[in-house]
Amino acid sequence: MAVMASIRNIVILTGAGISAESGIDTFRGGGGLWEQHRVEDVATPEAFARDPDLVLRFYDMRRAAIQTKEPNPAHTALARLDREWPGELLIVTQNVDDLHERGGARRVLHMHGEHLNAWCTACDRRHRWTAPLIARPPCPACGSSALRPDIVWFGEMPYRMDEIYGALRGADLFVSIGTSGAVYPAAGLVRNARELGAQTLELNLERSQGSAWFAETRLGPASELVPAWVEEVLGAG
Ligand code: NAD
Ligand code: ZN
Repeated sequence: MAVMASIRNIVILTGAGISAESGIDTFRGGGGLWEQHRVEDVATPEAFARDPDLVLRFYDMRRAAIQTKEPNPAHTALARLDREWPGELLIVTQNVDDLHERGGARRVLHMHGEHLNAWCTACDRRHRWTAPLIARPPCPACGSSALRPDIVWFGEMPYRMDEIYGALRGADLFVSIGTSGAVYPAAGLVRNARELGAQTLELNLERSQGSAWFAETRLGPASELVPAWVEEVLGAG
């Protein structure tokens, strides 16, 4: 990135790969199964309608598991960038864990929701939630038992897309970290960024489905690539 000095506004897209070294399974890591389940059986509104107990138990397990994991050097490096970067910066994450926040980042947008939130489909309120949902606890606001994981399932609309596109319009640099480029609309953001004139950089363990869209791809583990890149950006700024 020779012209790094001219960068002012940055949009970063992160995916499951940035949390892999914290011990959280990526989506497609395990031979097409995610934590022993087919995605269609646990991560769609149809699955929830068909077998809510299975889906709630699955997310209860994931919610419990992430609370035992810790941020890795990739999360803490992005948090440092967030603290020290004088221009606009937005970390758009597909991840539903809270490792960016626990690593210290503030400017984080969860486009696919959060494990540690429960959403009441009766009153539409969201609540910080660390406990299981399987026993159908009452909504603290309205008392109904209509709480579900606040996760954007396949076939549902990601959150806050207007804000994401707004940030992209002002971005000089778009960086994608640890994402396979398979899940839309997140996978299409690099094309939007390019069309809007941003530089594009991909940091990933291996070449992804979206690699061809990036001006530069660096391959390796996020815990090494991200701190090195942050050092580079802050050094040039
Ligand atoms: P993905 O699992 O489809 O792809 C992960 C990518 O990360 C792959 O390209 C892989 O090569 C790369 N990767 C693996 N280990 C890495 C490492 N150590 N360093 C750098 N890169 C590494 O994930 P996705 O693209 O984020 O899409 C999956 C969907 O699943 C998202 O919508 C997300 O909401 C959800 N998901 C979230 C989590 C989480 O919150 N941690 C975990 C699994 C799935
Ligand atoms: Zn409610």
